[in-house]
Amino acid sequence: LFLLILISSKVYKFYVASKLDREVSNDSDVIKIGFSLGTLKEERWVKDRDIFMAKAKELGAEVFVQNANNDDEDQLKQVKYLLDKKIDILVIVPNDLKKASAAVEMAKKAGVKVISYDRLVLNSNVDLYISFDNVKVGKLMAEYLVERYPKGNYLIINGATNDNNTKMIKEGYDSVLLPKVKSGDINIIGEEWSPNWMSEYAFQSTEKYIQKNYKIDAIIAGDDGLANGIIESLSEHRLAGEVAVVAQDADLAACQRIIEGTQLMTVYKPLDKLAGDAAKLAVKLAKGEKLNVNNTIYDGKYNVPYYKLEPIAVDKTNIDDTVIKDGFHSRDDVYRYT
Ligand code: BGC
Repeated sequence: LFLLILISSKVYKFYVASKLDREVSNDSDVIKIGFSLGTLKEERWVKDRDIFMAKAKELGAEVFVQNANNDDEDQLKQVKYLLDKKIDILVIVPNDLKKASAAVEMAKKAGVKVISYDRLVLNSNVDLYISFDNVKVGKLMAEYLVERYPKGNYLIINGATNDNNTKMIKEGYDSVLLPKVKSGDINIIGEEWSPNWMSEYAFQSTEKYIQKNYKIDAIIAGDDGLANGIIESLSEHRLAGEVAVVAQDADLAACQRIIEGTQLMTVYKPLDKLAGDAAKLAVKLAKGEKLNVNNTIYDGKYNVPYYKLEPIAVDKTNIDDTVIKDGFHSRDDVYRYT
C-alpha cells in the first residue's frame, strides 16, 4: 500500500508539473499590451480605455493599464513597471510631449515596440502614431465660427502647452483665422493656454476678459472640459448662449449644452474607431507583422507612420446622425434636460 501511495503521489506531482508548464507556456503565447495613459480626467479617456481593453480581449491579448494623473515622473515609473511585467508592446498617451521620450527610449531598449496614442511623443521615432487629424480639429472649430461670425472679437482658450495636440489644433485654427485677422475682420482679443487642460483655468481666463469689458463674439475652447469652465463663467454674467463657443470631444455635458444652446459645436472623434483600430494594430505590431500605414508625421527628428482618422463637426443639426446614431451617447442622455 505504501508503495502504491508513493507511486501515485509521484504520478500526480508529474501531472501537476506538466500542467503548470503548459499553462506557463500558454501564458507566454498571450500578447501582453501595456497601456500607459497620461490622464483619465476627461470623460473620453475612460471610453478609450474601455474600448481598447474590450477589443484587445476579443483579439486574445491581455492589457495592463496605468494612469499617471498628469504626472510625468509617475508615467515614467509606470512604463518601467509595465516593462518589468514583460509586455510585448507599449501603447502610450504621453502627458508631456517631450519628457515621454525617456519612456519610449526605455521600451525600445527592452526591444518593445511603441504606439503613441492620440498624442504624439516628440523626437522619439515611435513605431506608430494613431490619432485623429488634430490639425483638422482646429480647422473645423475656426471654420464653423467664421462662417457664422465673419467679423468680431474672438477669444481662444487652448489646452496644455505640453500636449502636441494643442500645437496641431492651433495650426488648424490659425490657417483659417489669420487671413481674417490680416484683413481686419476678426480681432483675436486673447489666446490662453490651460495647464493640464484645467477647466478652472478656462473659467478664470474667461472672467478676466469679461472683467476687461470686452465684447466677446466667439470662443474657441481646446476641449469640452475647458468649454465647461468657459460657459460657467459666461452664465454667471448672463452671457451663456450669447457668445458662440466651440470645442472638441463630444463629452456628454457638451452634447447637452449643444441641445440647450449654450455651446454651438463640438468636434466629435469616434473613439470606437480610434481605440478599436489601435488594439488591432498593437496586436499586429507585437506579432511582428507589417502595418500598411502610408501617412507620416514629423516628430521633430523623424518621420513616423501616422494612422490618421477623421474628426466630425457636430452641432444641433447633425447630433442625431452622428453621436447618437453611433451610440456614443444615448438619445435619452443627450436630450435629458429638454
Ligand atoms: C485630446 C483631447 C482631450 C485633451 C485633454 C488632448 O490631447 O486630444 O481629446 O480632451 O487631450 O485630455
